[in-house]
Amino acid sequence: MTTKHRLKLPDECDLKWCNEAGDHQVHRQYLISLLAQQGCMIGVNVVQPDIAPSVVELTLMPRRAASRVVVLVPNEARTVVRALNAAIRLTDRL
Ligand SMILES: [Zn+2]
Repeated sequence: MTTKHRLKLPDECDLKWCNEAGDHQVHRQYLISLLAQQGCMIGVNVVQPDIAPSVVELTLMPRRAASRVVVLVPNEARTVVRALNAAIRLTDRL
């Protein structure tokens, strides 16, 4: 029987889901980065500060304005997802 082991690079985080490398206080997984209409970059990450519960981080990076970060607890993120899905269904029917 063979067992697969993931090789851990020296600066990788101990948390398997975390994409951050090196010394960091906030664990983060980058889920999507999307260039939306009008050149606005949208990022969605899962973030976990050292001792705080995990949250969803929505980052908006307009082409000609400062970036904005919206932090959502999971229930808030679910509400946004439901609203987005409802909006998508409506736009598909129009
Ligand atoms: Zn980490």
